[in-house]
Amino acid sequence: MNCKANYDTILLGDVKMTIVFKVSEELQKKMIKYYENKKREKTPPYAYFQALDADTIVTLYESGKVMFQGISADIDANMWIDLEKKLTGTVININENKEKQEKAAKIKNEFYRLSTIGSDEVGTGDYFGPIVVTASFVPKDKVDELDKLGVRDSKKITDEKIKQIAPTLLKEVEHVTYILNNKEYNEYQKKGYNMNQIKAILHNKVLYELKEKISQYDKMVVDQFVYPKKYYEHLKEEKQVVYGITFLTKAESVCASVAASSCISRYLFLEEMDKLSDKLKMVIPKGAGEDVDEVAAKVVKQYGEQMLYDVAKLNFKNTFKLQEYIKQ
Ligand code: MG
Repeated sequence: MNCKANYDTILLGDVKMTIVFKVSEELQKKMIKYYENKKREKTPPYAYFQALDADTIVTLYESGKVMFQGISADIDANMWIDLEKKLTGTVININENKEKQEKAAKIKNEFYRLSTIGSDEVGTGDYFGPIVVTASFVPKDKVDELDKLGVRDSKKITDEKIKQIAPTLLKEVEHVTYILNNKEYNEYQKKGYNMNQIKAILHNKVLYELKEKISQYDKMVVDQFVYPKKYYEHLKEEKQVVYGITFLTKAESVCASVAASSCISRYLFLEEMDKLSDKLKMVIPKGAGEDVDEVAAKVVKQYGEQMLYDVAKLNFKNTFKLQEYIKQ
C-alpha cells in the first residue's frame, strides 16, 4: 500500500519556540557527534549542521551559537546547558531575556489550552503487568478543571495521588483504553513484533476508536516514542489508520489530553498490578530490576514456568536471568 502520511512533526508555526545561545568548543564537538545521524540534508549558510531530533530543529553555527526551535525546544536546550556546566563550568542562562521566556511559556500554555485528543501508554518497561494505552479527549473548557486536579505534571505525580485523582478523570474525561495482557504481548513477540510496533498498533487502535466519537478538536497528539515515518511503517498491516497526528516528545507537559491519558493509563496499570498481586498471593513489583527477578523466580517455583507466559513480558532480560535465581 502506498500510504501518504499526513502528520505534523512540530512545525506548528504559531506554537514554535526558539532558543539561541553560545556554547564552548568542547560542547560543539559533542553536539556534532550527537546529531550526526539526525542531520538534515541541507545545511544552512554558516552552520555546521541542522538536525531534527524528535520535534526540535537544532542548528549549530560556526560562530558557536546554537539554535533550538520547536515546542519542546527548552527541554533539548536544557540538556545541553546541563552538559556545558559539567564540561566547562559555564552556566548558560537562557532565562535572561524575560520577555522571551514569558513568550515561550505563553506559547506552551496556548497549545495546552486547545481542544485535543491525545494518547499515552504505561507498562512497556515493566516485566510484570500489562501494557495500558489510553486516548483521551479534553475540550478546552475542561483544561482548568484538569489543572486543578494536578494532571499537567502527570509524570511527577506519585502513585498515591494518581489513585486519588483518577476516579474523577475516568468519569469526566471521554477516553478509550486498551489493556494488552502479557499473553497477548508474548504472542505478538513470537510473531516477530517489536515493542515500538506493538505500541504503534495500540495507539492507533485507541485513537481510532475515540476519533469515531469526537467530531470537533483542534489537534490530535501522540506522546512520541518513534519517528512519525516509522510509526506509520509499523501500521502498514492495519486496516484503519489514523492520520493528522502531531507527534510530540514529553507531550504530557504540552497537551492536556496526553496528560490525562498518562494518568488514566497509570491508574489502570496500578489496578492490574494489584489484581496480579492478589492472584499470585505475593507483592508484584513494577519495573524490571532485581526485585523483579526475585519475584519472577518465586512465581516459577510456586506456579511453574507456564505462569510466566501469562503474567510477564518474556523477551525481557529478566527471563534469562531467572535460571540463576531458580538454582539458589
Ligand atoms: Mg509516553
